[in-house]
Amino acid sequence: MSHEETRSAGDLRNTGLSLKHDRTWDYELDRIVEAVEERDAEKVGLQFPEGLKRSAPGVADDLRKLLPDDTRVLISGQPCYGACDLDTYMMRRTDVFVHFGHSPMKESEKIIYVPLFSNVDVEPIMEQSLEKLEVGDVGLVTTAQHMNLFPEMKEWLTERGFEVHTRKGDDRLTHEGQVLGCNYASADIDADQVLYVGGGKFHPLGLAMEHPEKKVVIADPVNNSVSVADTEKFLKQRYATVHKAMDAEKWGVIFCTKIGQGRWDQANEIVENNDNAYLITMDEVTPDRLRNFDMDAFVNTGCPRITTDDGPQFHKPMLTPGEYEIAVGNKPLDELSFDTFHGTW
Ligand code: SF4
Repeated sequence: MSHEETRSAGDLRNTGLSLKHDRTWDYELDRIVEAVEERDAEKVGLQFPEGLKRSAPGVADDLRKLLPDDTRVLISGQPCYGACDLDTYMMRRTDVFVHFGHSPMKESEKIIYVPLFSNVDVEPIMEQSLEKLEVGDVGLVTTAQHMNLFPEMKEWLTERGFEVHTRKGDDRLTHEGQVLGCNYASADIDADQVLYVGGGKFHPLGLAMEHPEKKVVIADPVNNSVSVADTEKFLKQRYATVHKAMDAEKWGVIFCTKIGQGRWDQANEIVENNDNAYLITMDEVTPDRLRNFDMDAFVNTGCPRITTDDGPQFHKPMLTPGEYEIAVGNKPLDELSFDTFHGTW
């Protein structure tokens, strides 16, 4: 890390993040009340992502004040990390189902998606990112949290002489320029460099893996740091995991039952072609839940981020379907790539 990066990382003065604690999110209660009235709903289900579960009782209280006395408001306690992860049990038992914090993966009349955008100012960090970019063609991507600022980001770069390339990836994505932890199709553009504006290193790492020919510059307005995605450490970790799994005899093949994470055909194909592979179905894939299975290695056909980001926490090697093919010798090692999802349900 350069001196410049050391100094700027964690310096939140220019980011607007200091406002975060006074933050009142727009839960779009009016839109929910309207839907309840329109549908004469008796039961309303609310699903929050992990970071916002603490606000759930407050939002339920506010809603109850606005709704007729006999309307019941239910809160989902299921873990939730994406729009792929709807509480289908609750969805079936409520008349209006509200999913907070993610943009729609698939529209449905029953579901109200309330996106909850970040209020962090992205311009200061984009200004810093100019040091790592060459004026010319550039791709621009961001996450759902910052999507409301996407047109401004684009304009900002254009004003500084860039030719900004953007596209809407595929059906799994709602917006132009949006990326998910499992889908980087929006970066499939005609430019050698891509600017990722958003929090964390995991998304841009996936992006750099998926598009190895492009330089991925990370402008992280949440941690106030600028860097260039480096896949080397990530690749080493994945190669090491694949190597460990090469001696495995008994394989646990995970089929995830979450609505937007099921890859049934892929999971079954593995089991059909390997007598020592067992299909395990589950919703939440955690190290604790797998610990009691006497397997030598696992293949996860659910969320790829569980495999790559949480991989080292599992007691046995956890592989993506593509890595499995390498470990059993069906594909060469140099075909190791990032696992992505391209459909809905
Ligand atoms: S599958 Fe994983 S990475 Fe993809 S949207 Fe769902 S939680 Fe995010």
